Amino acid sequence: MRSDVTQYDLIAPGTLDAVLQVLADSPVRYTPIAGGTELMVALGAGRLQSKKLISLWNLEELRFIEVAPDAIILGAGSTFTDIRKHPVIAHEFSILAQAASWTGSIANQNRGTIGGNIVNASPAADSPPALLACDAELTLVSARGPRTMRYRDFHLAYKETALEPDELLYSITISRNLKGYKSYIRKVGPRNAQAISKVAIAALIRMKRNHIDDIRIGAASLREFPVRLTATEQSLIGKTITLETIAAARAAVLSEARPIDDIRSTAKYRATIAANLLEEFLRRL
Ligand SMILES: Cc1cc2nc3c(=O)[nH]c(=O)nc-3n(C[C@H](O)[C@H](O)[C@H](O)COP(=O)(O)OP(=O)(O)OC[C@H]3O[C@@H](n4cnc5c(N)ncnc54)[C@H](O)[C@@H]3O)c2cc1C
Repeated sequence: MRSDVTQYDLIAPGTLDAVLQVLADSPVRYTPIAGGTELMVALGAGRLQSKKLISLWNLEELRFIEVAPDAIILGAGSTFTDIRKHPVIAHEFSILAQAASWTGSIANQNRGTIGGNIVNASPAADSPPALLACDAELTLVSARGPRTMRYRDFHLAYKETALEPDELLYSITISRNLKGYKSYIRKVGPRNAQAISKVAIAALIRMKRNHIDDIRIGAASLREFPVRLTATEQSLIGKTITLETIAAARAAVLSEARPIDDIRSTAKYRATIAANLLEEFLRRL
């Protein structure tokens, strides 16, 4: 049943500092709302628990994309349209630009933010596999100051993250040191557009003298949160790409994946398709 909006309270302090102060001082817990494309669905379905919302929408301190010599830094309030249209991202981080272009419809991309996608922590979300493959770093911020952590350590359990109640996700940093890496991303869903993935893989690989020198594989819908397939990566490092290597990589994915059966797919299908996707990537190389 639809929620009664009169039961909800939304404040918009207007600056990042003012938002952080409210989160630090308020005796009641406020839930941040950025683009609202997750939270408004919950509101519409009558399952938005938090009655106190604090707006991050369009805070200029959160909506930026900075290109530094060695890294690109995305404010958590950057929308998928901001990301999809950014020339440096399109050129150097095409897997992230691709993921942004898969996210819902154009209307969704105009409103949905990368911060909301990460903090919402859906195992099936589109940007996390690309961010994991890029080994992104997160900056979290509160009135106590900022702290940084690797994105791969951010998700703790289903819909549980390392964010403290008074913290916001401030930015995402991706190193530009990806020279020589080849990339792959593929999402498998019920249709090509406007689909929630059944499974998705994003990967970066660097070869040296025909051997795999580095590989990073981010996956959606293979665990209760987005993950790096580290055991599969380890099974590949130092190897040349042969049919035996591919068979071993498939086995590693099947043993590392812990997907679930749900309305979108089955665990067996998800694990098998993940192995197929990795094989597709390795064969292309
Ligand atoms: C029709 C439709 C289609 C969609 N299709 C896709 C899809 O294909 N792929 C996909 O991945 N997603 C999809 N989504 C989900 C959604 O659009 C994305 O997850 C989007 O990135 C959410 O961002 P937002 O800013 O709207 O988040 P909000 O709804 O504002 O917030 C989501 C969560 O993040 C928290 N939050 C937001 N920003 C911050 C921050 N800076 N710090 C701390 N907490 C924060 C909020 O408190 C909330 O818990 C779809 C949604 C709809 C309605």
